[in-house]
Amino acid sequence: MATKVILPEAELPTHWYNIVPDLPTPPPPVLHPGTHQPVGPDDLAPLFPMDLILQEVSQERFVEIPEEVREVYRKWRPSPLYRAHGLERLIGGPARIYYKYEGVSPVGSHKANTAVAQAYYNARAGIRKISTETGAGQWGSALAFACAQFGLECEVYMVKASFEQKPYRKAMIESYGGKIHASPSTNTNYGRKVLEEAPDTTGSLGIAISEAVEVAAMNADTNYALGSVLNHVLMHQTIIGEEALRQLAMVDEVPDVVIGCAGGGSNFAGLSFPFVREKLAGKMDPRIVAVEPAAAPSLTRGEYRYDFGDTGMLTPLVKMHTLGHDFLPDPIHAGGLRYHGMAPLVSHLKELGLIEAAALHQTETFRRAVEFARVEGIIPGAEPTHAIAQAMIEAEKARETGEEKVILFNLSGHGHFDMAAYQAFVDGKLQDYEYPADRIAKSMKKVPIVAG
Ligand SMILES: *Cc1c(COP(=O)(O)O)cnc(C)c1O
Repeated sequence: MATKVILPEAELPTHWYNIVPDLPTPPPPVLHPGTHQPVGPDDLAPLFPMDLILQEVSQERFVEIPEEVREVYRKWRPSPLYRAHGLERLIGGPARIYYKYEGVSPVGSHKANTAVAQAYYNARAGIRKISTETGAGQWGSALAFACAQFGLECEVYMVKASFEQKPYRKAMIESYGGKIHASPSTNTNYGRKVLEEAPDTTGSLGIAISEAVEVAAMNADTNYALGSVLNHVLMHQTIIGEEALRQLAMVDEVPDVVIGCAGGGSNFAGLSFPFVREKLAGKMDPRIVAVEPAAAPSLTRGEYRYDFGDTGMLTPLVKMHTLGHDFLPDPIHAGGLRYHGMAPLVSHLKELGLIEAAALHQTETFRRAVEFARVEGIIPGAEPTHAIAQAMIEAEKARETGEEKVILFNLSGHGHFDMAAYQAFVDGKLQDYEYPADRIAKSMKKVPIVAG
């Protein structure tokens, strides 16, 4: 019985998978915030290199991974697929549980998969610097690492609350040669405006995005990069699912349930979209489940409509499940899941009924993550505790019904920077936040009305 399913380096996938041409109906277009007309490639050119803009709107099913990107990927890819024997014994039932482990990347999460690709295309386009935002710090670290690989400068706006809580993220980003600012900062017009109105604010992802976008828009040699949500980001992450498909085939398994945690949706999409393809082709029929925090429940409780990606209303309008662009989720430890919206593609798949969504509270996810760590050894990142908890819930259901379920989930990163959260859990100080219906209703009033 295998414990670790290793795909030989020679079988590293050569292509990313673009789900768009396989969908029964196309996803709604991205709209210009002023005119409400579909944006064209030229509208995005101040922020992104043309290769990535073309990937964003691509109709090609498989997009070749450049050799320069594959060379960096080989440092840690293919990543291992583990059979969770310890967890299976703990739950005691017929379910067989597998997890894809993305914590083996140099930065400890799946975010490196798209960071490397984005840095490569920007370097090739002659860009000198990339600006970005980061919430919990994973994305900023991943992009700083990727920029170092291709000789680019990296400037990171980190949500002030996390900046203060997680000092080692700053050290990590600076070690890779990146620059980092607590957001809101005095560097940008938007940051200064926010600070004037609310000097004591602890910031938000939406505010940090506005700052990073402004820096890129004002400087010709600087582009912007986003770590989740966009189509091309989700596509870069499909290397996870492509590998997992091959690894499960190596041990003759077909999943009944595929699970990922979802903040902006990229690790969930990265694992699951290749399985959605197989499902649409009639080759397998897994349930596909996105798990989000009950404190930021965009897919389960948000409205599906056009909204801004950022608080400053600088980004185009995208149709997604949203809690309203100025909704500020409570300070749960899974900083990577504190976003008001969801990737438009994940939202569209939910509307099409191709995927399901669940929401869990953090006291439950950490309780289960600690059980997982004791039997499997890996201390998970705060975000994937949600995927683990859902996998355990599914395995317990299989135990009740006696069904031999095969469960696959994405362990998107390790938790070595989340020790404050684990300390709070073991000290009994972790708390849950109720779904703030009244605050969301207030924030939804500011979402623009878009015809059609
Ligand atoms: C950022 C992050 C997430 C959440 O982002 P998605 O785009 O939804 O994947 C989840 N897990 C880890 C480890 C992260 O760093």
